[in-house]
Parts: sequence; structure tokens; C-alpha cells
Amino acid sequence: MPPLMHGTLPLTARLEPWMTELVENPKLCQELLTKYGSPLNVHNFSSMARNITELREAAAEYEVDFQIYLARKANKTLGAIDKAFAEGCGVDVASFHELDQCLKRGISSDSLIVTAAVKSQALLELAVQNNVVLSLDNEDEVDDLLQIANATNTPARVALRLASADPQISPTRFGLSAERWLEFLGGVTNQEALEVIGVHFHLNGYDGGQRAAVLQESLDLVDALRQQGHSVKFVDMGGGIPMSYLDDSIQWRGFWEALAELPEGDESLTWKADRLGATGPQASKALYPYHQQLIRGPWLEQILTTKGADGSQSVAEMLNERGIQLRCEPGRSLLDGCGLTLSQVAFTKERSDGVSLVGLHMNRTQCRSTAADFLVDPLLVKTAGRHSRQLAPYSGFLVGAYCIEEELILRRRFEFPQGVAKGDIVAFPNTGGYLMHIIESASHQLPLAKNLKWDDGQWDLDGIDEIRLG
Ligand SMILES: *Cc1c(COP(=O)(O)O)cnc(C)c1O
Repeated sequence: MPPLMHGTLPLTARLEPWMTELVENPKLCQELLTKYGSPLNVHNFSSMARNITELREAAAEYEVDFQIYLARKANKTLGAIDKAFAEGCGVDVASFHELDQCLKRGISSDSLIVTAAVKSQALLELAVQNNVVLSLDNEDEVDDLLQIANATNTPARVALRLASADPQISPTRFGLSAERWLEFLGGVTNQEALEVIGVHFHLNGYDGGQRAAVLQESLDLVDALRQQGHSVKFVDMGGGIPMSYLDDSIQWRGFWEALAELPEGDESLTWKADRLGATGPQASKALYPYHQQLIRGPWLEQILTTKGADGSQSVAEMLNERGIQLRCEPGRSLLDGCGLTLSQVAFTKERSDGVSLVGLHMNRTQCRSTAADFLVDPLLVKTAGRHSRQLAPYSGFLVGAYCIEEELILRRRFEFPQGVAKGDIVAFPNTGGYLMHIIESASHQLPLAKNLKWDDGQWDLDGIDEIRLG
């Protein structure tokens, strides 16, 4: 059956079986929206196990000691951390509340790492009290931490966040250079207060070659730290492990080619002929590469088999020779297949110049990451019966609830071959990683979307929606 909704140039989502089953049940979709409001984030975390296995198998192939920490910032639900922990993973947290909620949920200290960019006194204290590893960013932060460690007589377990000195890596605000760390540590008077047990980095983008290079740089720092007497146990390569939302590479390339050739002002593909800040799929830093060749397992394998500059040892061999555990902090790629967002159609109408619009009961912060657009076709779930005029093919843009002209839910134009009407449901597939939560806002006093999780045969409210932050 041809889809009821697709981009004027389709970008067809890869779906999990649970997603197909849900959208093929309009009655259930409507019941959930009636009960919990629109939009509604639904989660089924079963796919996370598969994603984890893909990574673990790649590491096991090269006998690398390997541990995964779910980057919690990518999805706020408690269901996500429960599932990661149940699968033997840890969690990477970035704030006091993220850490506090994980501890209260029963995640063990060993399974947590704090990577917050800015760390409050309360966060530092909570981490020290619970013996949770902190990834250190700067010297001022270490001064705060040492005060707490000295006052409570509890050594702090830390990893050093490494800012790469490699000229091929873009400048970063995070961490310090190896040189700077070594010099700083040499000057710390109370050495026992800090247990340096790891080296940490996180790179922008998804390039495996860059990870392989900075892993080697990290191992050089490990060697130097060991010479200073620190017992370093792990290198954490952060997140940015690639995934694909789209299976079809031809669709993906074709979309960019067509966009590049679009005449000025032509809105047949995007709102106000937006070129999405790019001239090609790889040229844009403003957009996620929604189709990628190497993802998860094969991507990690490529890194582990990369040879050092002298060509003798692979990255896996360098790690193993030193007895160093490799850690990673995937957010998006662990949540691949775990979420979907439902939204009710509020109206159809025309812009003052006649361009067709579909209004949704949601706003644009509720299906958006930090990227300029989410380039994946939603699915239309037809609900009520309708007048024949509403069955005519329709072509237009999805607009949302914020009172702003540029309030587009997605910036591409969509086709509805069998029409679309008030009361229908639009389902955004695979929104579990970032698309639901990273920039959601409650502007206009519109409440945040509720979060459901599939639990033993039923859809239940996730515990995060019952927590109020003090
Ligand atoms: C954001 C972030 C991650 C997760 O990145 P993904 O692209 O979702 O895998 C991991 N570690 C750190 C330190 C981060 O800031």
C-alpha cells in the first residue's frame, strides 16, 4: 500500500515492528491521545538491546574490554535508564537531577559517569558522596572538587577530559590539553584526594578516523599518567556513534541533489525554498546525516582495526596491551528504534497566498534536535470518517502552536495522496534520541508532552512525568 503521507521527495523512515503495529491501530492511537494529550511520546525500549549487542559484538571480536554508558541527555525517561541498566550498561549523566534520579532508580555508582559541562556544588557533592566518577573539564572545577574531597575526607574518582591537540580535530570548549592536565596534576598538593582512573573525550560529528586518532592520543596520556603514579583503568571515547534513520541511500542523495537545483523561491520541496543550510548531504554541519553507511558495530570495528602511525599495532591491540577498558557514551544510536511521537491534526487551511497548511496540536520544539530539520517522513494515521472533499490529494506544510510565522514542525513539504483532515494523527517515527526532549519547551504555558513506555503488554506513563524539579 502506498503511504498516506510522504515528503514531496520521500525520505522513508526505517520502522521497527512495534511502530508499524501501533500506527496500524488508529483506535489505540486516538485513545492514547485522548487520555494523555497531544503530542505524545511513546517508547518501546526493546530495540536498545539489539543496538547494544551490535556494539558489544564488535568489541568482543577484538577481545577489547568494553563498557557502554547511555548518554541520558538524549532522552529523559526513566524507562531508558532502566533498560540500559537491565542490559548491563551504565548511564552518562550531565546534571544534578540526572544523577540523583539515576541513583534513586538503583543504578550502581560504578555504572555512572558525570560528564556535565558545568558542575554545581550540589552535583560535585552528590558524586563524591556516592563515589561516582566525574569527568573533569577545567581547573576551577577541580579546585571546587578538591575542597569537597578534603572536607569530607573522601577521595574523588575522576577521568580527565582531553581536548585533543590534533590539528585535524576542530577546536573544542570541552576539557584541557594533555600537557595542561599533567602540569596541573603535578601541582596538586593533596594527591590522595584525586584518583585519576580514566581519560575521557567526546568529539563532534561521527568520523571514525578522528576517534581512532584521539584514542591513540588518549593512550599517550594514559602512559604519562601511569608514569606519574596514577592507576588509570579506562579510556572513554564519548558518543557520536552513527545510526541511520533512512535505509535508502538513493533517496537521501537524490533529495540533496534536487534541493541544490531548486530555483530560487520554489516551495515544492521546502518552506520558503529553504536549502537547509547545505549544498550536499555531507556539506552541512547543521543537519544530522540521516542516512549513514557505517553504523554502530561496523563503525566501531573500523576504529578498533585502525593501525597506529608506525603501522604496527591496531587500536584494539594498543588498548589490550595496556589493559585499558574502552568505554563509550552513545545517546542517539542506543535509542535508535525506541521512540515515536504522535500528534493530532488541528486544522487544514491556506496561507494568505494559497499555500496549503496542516496545523498540529504540538509545537516545533517537540520534534526537533539541535539540527535545522528532522529529515524523516512522518506517517499519517487516519482516524474519523470524512467528507469526500477531504479525500482529495493534499500537499502542504506542517505548522505548530507557537505564534511565530516560522513555526514549522518540519521544513519539508508533504503529500497526502488520500487527503488529510482535522482529527487525523501524524506519527513521527524514531524520535527517541534527542527529537523529543533536547530542546522541548513549555512556551505559551503549553504543557510538555507526556511520555509513555511499553511495559508488559500495555502503555504506561513513564515515571519522569511524575517528577517535579525543585
Ligand atoms: C552528547 C554527548 C554524548 C552522546 O552523544 P550521541 O551523539 O548522542 O551519541 C556522549 N557524551 C558526551 C560527553 C556528550 O556530550
